[in-house]
Amino acid sequence: METNRALAEMIQASQKLVFLTRAGISTESGIPDFRSSGGIYANGNVEHYISRYFYNKSPKDFWKHFKEIFQLKMLGNYEPNNGHLFIKELEDMGKEVTVLTQNIDGLHQKAGSKHVLELHGTLRTAHCPKCKRVYNLEYTLRNDVPRCEQDDFILDTDVVLFGDAIKHFEEAIDAIETCDLLIVMGSSLNVTPVNSFPEYAKQSWNTKLAIINKEETIKDCYFDVVIHDKIGDAVINLSKW
Ligand SMILES: [Zn+2]
Repeated sequence: METNRALAEMIQASQKLVFLTRAGISTESGIPDFRSSGGIYANGNVEHYISRYFYNKSPKDFWKHFKEIFQLKMLGNYEPNNGHLFIKELEDMGKEVTVLTQNIDGLHQKAGSKHVLELHGTLRTAHCPKCKRVYNLEYTLRNDVPRCEQDDFILDTDVVLFGDAIKHFEEAIDAIETCDLLIVMGSSLNVTPVNSFPEYAKQSWNTKLAIINKEETIKDCYFDVVIHDKIGDAVINLSKW
């Protein structure tokens, strides 16, 4: 309870907040954690099927595997949970909130958060590599292999594939540099380069840091407040203070 209170007070004292979220916040909405031990990454071939190399080599096969792996048809069925809504409510209260997320499900936007940087891209859209036109999920699902209406090119996903650089890196660093408080939610901080953001912030700017994650992480020592709990339960406890 002491840690919940400490975090609640840190949030109250902060105007500019950055959240860094990962799978742990989405699993509470029922979305599988693709990187967990039983998840799809447990099968070694998956990284090949969702790589830039494989897309370039055979884009038709890529789309077949990509849709299966990410269960794309299901995506519209998921709803944001209390964790997503908590972040959105801070924005409603007048805080300046930036969400840096490694999730590709779009649930922060669905919850109403306005400033979301999707570091690993998004499943919600795809684009034409030739004319750059953007297509929504419904269109992408309409045919097995989605093609551009104008020039018939096979679409490219907006998800960051293995072999791609993460997106919005500079903006993410800018947001962290100027924030009063960085809160990590639902991440075991084991994917580079994003897992080094908190210690970088602490060392460079002495940023206040908090983490809410079900399990311990090897980076816990960098944080001012550490809460090991489900995010939904933790944010309810925060609201009590
Ligand atoms: Zn096109």
